[in-house]
Amino acid sequence: MNTIPFSSLPLAPALLENIASLGYTQLTPIQAEALPPILAGKDIIAQAKTGSGKTAAFGIGLLSALDFSRFSVQALVICPTRELADQVCKELRLLARFTQNVKILSLCGGVPSRPQTESLEHGIHIVVGTPGRLQEHLDKGRLLLDELRVVVLDEADRMLDMGFADIISAIMSSAPKQRQTLLFSATYAEQIREISKRFQHQPITISLDNSHHDSVIAQIFFQTEQANRLNALGYLLTHYHPESTVVFCNTKRECQDLAAALANSGFSVHALHGDLEQKQRDQVLVRFANKSCSVLVATDVAARGLDIKDLQAVINYELPWDPEIYVHRIGRTGRAGKQGLALTLCLIEEMNRVIALEDYLHITAKWDKIGSFSTNYHERFQPPMATLWIDGGRKNKLRPGDILGALTCAGGIAGSDIGKIDIFDEQAFVAIRQNQINAALAWLKKSKIKGKTFMVRKSA
Ligand code: ADP
Ligand code: MG
Repeated sequence: MNTIPFSSLPLAPALLENIASLGYTQLTPIQAEALPPILAGKDIIAQAKTGSGKTAAFGIGLLSALDFSRFSVQALVICPTRELADQVCKELRLLARFTQNVKILSLCGGVPSRPQTESLEHGIHIVVGTPGRLQEHLDKGRLLLDELRVVVLDEADRMLDMGFADIISAIMSSAPKQRQTLLFSATYAEQIREISKRFQHQPITISLDNSHHDSVIAQIFFQTEQANRLNALGYLLTHYHPESTVVFCNTKRECQDLAAALANSGFSVHALHGDLEQKQRDQVLVRFANKSCSVLVATDVAARGLDIKDLQAVINYELPWDPEIYVHRIGRTGRAGKQGLALTLCLIEEMNRVIALEDYLHITAKWDKIGSFSTNYHERFQPPMATLWIDGGRKNKLRPGDILGALTCAGGIAGSDIGKIDIFDEQAFVAIRQNQINAALAWLKKSKIKGKTFMVRKSA
């Protein structure tokens, strides 16, 4: 393991202090390799497993390269999905906390574009967005790139898989030739080398081991039969009892069916797939991250880029065809050095895929038998928390402290029973320990928040 401190980099003291306050003490391996050339203004093409800290690698680069006294878009981060863009935005805002002067804007589809246009008029430094919406703003002349200094293509392989090659080319052709281009990809497919050739200038290649080591993620395989798959999954969830699990399916259809079946057998579960509206998706992700829902059933596209801290387990309900997809899936657990668990259900006729995986990852698959569990399948467990929904958010100038204050004031709920508070534009969510949820609901219903009465409900 490397132990390179951030202070060894030529960074502004306030930025360094902020990085330390985020609890980042040393550089991750990709940061150690990528940051020196990024800070030197070089183009890089970097390949590293998920959860390795790529966002902070380019984020710190951007914050060091831009001139925040000029109000123009100087950096553009292109991401494959809204979720990923949201996460990148969040991480950039955390990294930029040391100053009031950095304006970061997310430009993604699925929400109206007019407020985005208005924000663009107010002088934005860093834009993070998905290809379609970025192109729309570019075409309409609302997004100007003539002062652009840095472009980041995050999860470039995924963007190509999703068919964004042409849009990316169009966006790149609106950018100044004299610029820094940072390309991140989990793989080195031929296509990636091609876009690198087209859009980069003498890039430095950085590649880190693609396999997840057993010390970080324990991978266990279970043989099952088609007719018994759902039952087998129930046993895995009850036996390992993870506080939070993402279960992967290969199709949207399977994802919906499985979530319904699990809910039917009493599990606390939500489906995450491409058909959800933004508000529903926010709600699902909030409830999962704040521990009031323990199982998320997801497709690969929907889960791409998810970074949920403390995800204890990933289960492959269906084995993917492609070993790379397997690597992406299990990369959701064991993040930032935490021990993870990856469980995979496999039919006898799918053995060849496991052999392909062993080859790809240079591992020998470990097998276990569900029959050996002494678990009582009927022991259901409730998630530790439940969520209250509040009909107000940023637009009402609500901040986490306001909600916390309303809950805890004058003999209300104990602070230790209150979990994560998430605030969106028009709604907010607060996690409450399960056994206090009714008391908290009753309390908030008769309390004012910031002097106003809001509608409050249990979120389900
Ligand atoms: P990637 O894009 O490589 O999949 P992320 O950038 O999402 O990974 O980072 C994964 C997690 O690691 C995030 O929660 C991030 O806050 C955390 N992280 C990043 N850099 C560091 C660091 N130097 N020390 C500790 N945690 C870090
Ligand atoms: Mg990433």
